[in-house]
Amino acid sequence: MHNIERIDAVAQDRMLPAEELAGLLGSFTDEELEYASSLARAVAQRVFGKKVYLRGIVEFTNYCRNNCLYCGIRRDNKNACRYRLSQEETLTCCRDGYAAGFRTFVLQGGEDPWYSDERMCEIVSAIRAEFPDCAITLSLGERSEESYRRLKQAGADRYLLRHETADAAHYALLHPAEQTLQNRMDCLHTLRALGYQVGCGCMVGSPFQTPLHLAKDLLFMAEFRPHMIGLGPFIPHHDTPFRDEAAGTVRQSLMLLALCRLMLPEVLLPATTALGTLDPIGRERGILAGANVIMPNLSPVSVRKKYMLYDNKLFSGDDPETCRRALEQRVASIGYQVVMGRGDHPAFAADARKGN
Ligand code: SAH
Repeated sequence: MHNIERIDAVAQDRMLPAEELAGLLGSFTDEELEYASSLARAVAQRVFGKKVYLRGIVEFTNYCRNNCLYCGIRRDNKNACRYRLSQEETLTCCRDGYAAGFRTFVLQGGEDPWYSDERMCEIVSAIRAEFPDCAITLSLGERSEESYRRLKQAGADRYLLRHETADAAHYALLHPAEQTLQNRMDCLHTLRALGYQVGCGCMVGSPFQTPLHLAKDLLFMAEFRPHMIGLGPFIPHHDTPFRDEAAGTVRQSLMLLALCRLMLPEVLLPATTALGTLDPIGRERGILAGANVIMPNLSPVSVRKKYMLYDNKLFSGDDPETCRRALEQRVASIGYQVVMGRGDHPAFAADARKGN
């Protein structure tokens, strides 16, 4: 099969076998990438219009009990300068974000046991009470079913938990033995059963990754049908075992974004910070390949450089208002428009309007 036929097949909802997807991902021309992107942005425009949702991300802790080999805030990185935001500091970030128009707050952190269920639920409840019209997204890694249930009851709407790679052997090369793909997948299924809008996703170009691994990621996502997909290039961090590994590429990330959009027309798909880190207009290119979300940073400026997952992570010292304006301009430069609503997945949007 030629690549154009492969792209057409995905666009027409004829899912390809892993070998064909791997063939496409293994090598494609710039013209083929542009073809996939043009189909993907047509799909995104049909479902969402030329609109881009903003989510304000609050990176509230960089303590982590895990030791992912790729990640700059891994437990064994003794050079990381650790911090935790208090409940009040986290709420202040949300307040500033709200004043600038943000209606989704994403709380992301390392797996930090200090944030017990009790403490975390208190933070979520406080945000829920003060901002009843906002969506609350959590990205706290792997927790128990009971924990996910309590956080949902406290008012969380969505949960981001990238699966990182859908191949168990590859997963084992990126993580220590105590972290398993099985547990990660179990968490994703639990989150969905509890009624969260769920996001999974993977790194592109992570060490040892082959095109066949990426094909398996696509097939997993086609089957799991997440509401959101977080997908961006791997970028090495100098204080991790992968310091000397090559970064993933922008063009392969763009091809993945386009294929995700074609497979799941309604999915909420961020043009990630990692993409913007490797290419100054990477996020704009992501939108033109079918992405429809950007997640700017609402963390206090004093901690932004400490949440360093990878080297040179895109940094802006802007307050939420300035940040929103800058993104409005960027998005306008490619003919799109920033919208500040909650931006729920279409399957949940009707519920949200009813206030559920
Ligand atoms: N502790 C949370 C949040 C993790 S950080 C959790 O486990 O879900 C969010 C994402 O950053 C990770 O899922 C991973 O895919 C990505 N990430 C971490 N290190 C990275 C690196 N070196 N390059 C690119 N992405 C990275």
